Amino acid sequence: MSNAGIFLLLLLAILCGYVMGIYQRRTDSDDADGAPDSSQDLLKNLGYLLREETDAGLDQFIHRLDVSPATLDTHLAVGGLLRRKGEISRAIRVHQNLISRPSLSKAQQRQAQIELAQDFAQAGLLDRAERLLLELFEIDDAEREKVAQLLVDIYQDEREWERALDIVNQLGKGWFNKLSDHWQTLRAHFHCELAAVAVQGGDLLTVRRILKQARAYQKNLARSYLLEAEVELQAGDSARALAALEALLALDPDSLYAGLPVLQDLAKKEQYLPAVKRLLQQGWRQAGIASFVVMELELEVGRDPEVRKEILEVAIQKSPNLRLLAAYLALLIETNKEVGSVLEPLAAIGEKLNKLPHFKCSQCGFAGKQVHWLCPSCKTWSSLRPIKGLEGV
Ligand SMILES: [Zn+2]
Repeated sequence: MSNAGIFLLLLLAILCGYVMGIYQRRTDSDDADGAPDSSQDLLKNLGYLLREETDAGLDQFIHRLDVSPATLDTHLAVGGLLRRKGEISRAIRVHQNLISRPSLSKAQQRQAQIELAQDFAQAGLLDRAERLLLELFEIDDAEREKVAQLLVDIYQDEREWERALDIVNQLGKGWFNKLSDHWQTLRAHFHCELAAVAVQGGDLLTVRRILKQARAYQKNLARSYLLEAEVELQAGDSARALAALEALLALDPDSLYAGLPVLQDLAKKEQYLPAVKRLLQQGWRQAGIASFVVMELELEVGRDPEVRKEILEVAIQKSPNLRLLAAYLALLIETNKEVGSVLEPLAAIGEKLNKLPHFKCSQCGFAGKQVHWLCPSCKTWSSLRPIKGLEGV
């Protein structure tokens, strides 16, 4: 459903709840003193409120619609809608109004507190959001996972990996608290982030230990093998770096694309050249990533150009791709001077391709040139994949 559709449905739900709340209030009022409220006025105020025309609409809404278990959802829906519209200070007023009402149960007040924490977070008041969520996290109830997720979201944005990990660990404490795959994946990624920090400090032993822990939570985490390859190469252990890339290829052939810089470094050592070519060939067969073919041919500059052309022709037939075409054009220009002069203007195609994004998020469509393990747009882990196809990598 489109955003506009969701918005309209939400608006309808709010109106229904609102009218029911008014009806209930009027019935009570009629019974008590025979002086009905004006539902027309209240609906008008709600209209003002949602059209952002006046703060008076918000005041009227808060004061005229009773806070009770029956109208709680309406208040929460209005508060949530205001936050999504970017009207944070108004959303905060709606939620603070709920928290101050003794007519709500503890559980209902917690719902409002969770909403208020989200208001604070969206307003950039991270300290206040964190404080409130940490208090709520102390209570072990059905909302605890939601609270944990909100805390983890804040720590992820702040790159406070130890704290994020601590929340997940606390969530998993106890005999009956078996964490779902979602939380185990987060745990593994947080370990990888900590390992990346340890890499900068040059502490190889710590990096190896943390990566081992990461795999204990998610043994098929491709990222951990890529990180291992980078670290081992940096430490001068090419054999271990190669073994890590072999494990990466076996696990997730697409992810080998992010390992191309390591392969390029390994290929500089004569004894590893055959192994690097083998990995590139396997990567091409399994993932269909054109850059694997292009790199392999770059490593074989001394090879007969006709053989290289043939390899490219076969590859282009299997998977039409502009990078393969650019490599093919470069070979034609190199080997056939007459054709070369005609094709020369097209040689810039390679530079143009380098400006295209290399990775795209499978969840939200965010695209970029660098690999991000946490999508900067939708905050999903491991959702960015190499782009394939005609304009792919
Ligand atoms: Zn995304």
